[in-house]
Amino acid sequence: MDKNISRRTVLLRGLQVPVAGSLLLGLAACDSSGNGSQEITAVCADPEDMTSAQESVRKTLRYTELSSDPAKTCSGCAFFSGAAGGCGSCGIFDGNAVNPAGFCDSWSAAS
Ligand code: SF4
Repeated sequence: MDKNISRRTVLLRGLQVPVAGSLLLGLAACDSSGNGSQEITAVCADPEDMTSAQESVRKTLRYTELSSDPAKTCSGCAFFSGAAGGCGSCGIFDGNAVNPAGFCDSWSAAS
């Protein structure tokens, strides 16, 4: 095995890590709209503040604070009651807080 590494190789490898790291950070800061802004989503359902029954229902219905489908979010669900700009509540979850951007398996389009 050749133990001689050229100065050029060392410099190129030294540049690869910072460049790759910068690209990853840049991608993480951009949202899918491509406008470079980052949407901050409130945490509306903190498991620390729930009873075990509330937590169980959320797990059973696979509730998530951020829907993977922008067309199916809690704010567009028939069971959602919302407060503008903040957390809303869900009829399925006994009126407990849910995120307008959230989702669960009981999602039903609001009419
Ligand atoms: S039923 Fe599910 S999707 Fe609809 S508001 Fe409640 S948590 Fe959100």
